[in-house]
Amino acid sequence: MTPEEIEALIALQELDLKLLEFEKHQAAQPRLIEEIEAPLSLVRQEKERVEAELALARNQHRHFETELVSNNERFKKIQTQQMGIRNQIEFEAFQNEMESLKERADSLEESGLKWIEREDEAKTRLPEVAERLKEAEKLAAEKRSELDAKTAELKRIHDEASQLCAPHIARIPPTVLGYYKRLRGAGKKPFVSIVKRGACSGCGFRHPAQRLQEIRQGRRMVSCEQCGRIQIWREQEQEKVGF
Ligand SMILES: [Zn+2]
Repeated sequence: MTPEEIEALIALQELDLKLLEFEKHQAAQPRLIEEIEAPLSLVRQEKERVEAELALARNQHRHFETELVSNNERFKKIQTQQMGIRNQIEFEAFQNEMESLKERADSLEESGLKWIEREDEAKTRLPEVAERLKEAEKLAAEKRSELDAKTAELKRIHDEASQLCAPHIARIPPTVLGYYKRLRGAGKKPFVSIVKRGACSGCGFRHPAQRLQEIRQGRRMVSCEQCGRIQIWREQEQEKVGF
């Protein structure tokens, strides 16, 4: 491969990595959104539970109150009938009913109080949960807008990169391009690796002297025996690592 072809290949890879980054980001988006939404929906559910509890407690509180009122009315009504008692049997029946109405009043009162307690508890919790929901909503909105900004930025880079690919593609020999595309399809980044200290910089495999020579001469494309990546020689890279 000529130095121009090598540079074209490297330039294409740089652009492709930008395209891939956006593709990767897009694939991860549903998961990222889920991560943002999950804590929010937990607080939302909690608020719904407290609201349901409050509604139930309010209802039950009213129900026992009404029952107690009608129990008291019955009590008063029976009381007025006291004057009309004619014998012992009627008196015992009267007393029994009065007794059972009193017991029922106690039990209704007790149940009513339990529901008032639950109602008060829910009333206290509701503003606290509502506040937490507001905070969670604010945080989620911030995270969503951060994510949207990142997506927009990566898309901008992606679109810009995809417009720049064509001239590089035109400079790469078709067989090399075909092989490169297969590597890209397999997603093993980087697809092109520069030889450093006699080894493939993709996987670290040390090339035998003969191969190293071939890569250096650049008469044909050489791939790594171990990882398959396209091997290229760049004089400036050798200097950098002290060759
Ligand atoms: Zn390798």
